[in-house]
Amino acid sequence: SSRDDTLAASIRAIRDYPKPGIIFRDITTLLGDAKAFRQAVDDLVKPYADMSIAQVAGIEARGFILGGALAHQLSAGFVPIRKKGKLPHETVRVAYSLEYGVDEMEMHVDAVKPGEKVILTDDLIATGGTAEGAVKLLRQMGAEIVSACFVIDLPELGGRKKLEALGVEVRTLIEFE
Ligand code: IMP
Repeated sequence: SSRDDTLAASIRAIRDYPKPGIIFRDITTLLGDAKAFRQAVDDLVKPYADMSIAQVAGIEARGFILGGALAHQLSAGFVPIRKKGKLPHETVRVAYSLEYGVDEMEMHVDAVKPGEKVILTDDLIATGGTAEGAVKLLRQMGAEIVSACFVIDLPELGGRKKLEALGVEVRTLIEFE
């Protein structure tokens, strides 16, 4: 739709970042465009209105920006999922796969209560490795993951399918090849 074209046009493409051959999708231009930012947040929250979402979990760092806005719109709490070593209280930790190698992410042990309805969010899903790690953490704490939502999907990298295979509904606004 033309709404999606406007949103897509607000995202900057950076060639050869972080390395040659990669096109990095930069949402700072979307965030800096008041109309586009509002539209993205409105479009992302729409399916979850009236669903009694308890928490929005955002993945460091761009998932914090979107997740804070989504949580406010849904009158939900916000849960930060961070790179290891950043959270001050007791955490649960999971290893997740990156394009080359692995890293670890953490969540506070008391950030979600068993049975709470949670939405997971980040700016972009590529291979789905990062989101898969977040799903594991949330489920370990007994969360009910209602959905995972992203502004951008890179469908060729298979992230959506990976999450759906875990039984997680995926919603995205824009696809890039
Ligand atoms: P995945 O784990 O392969 O799905 O990669 C997704 C993670 O890497 C997310 O946290 C994204 O923020 C980040 N990421 C990967 N590619 C891009 C990009 O082109 N633009 C912005 N973030 C990206």
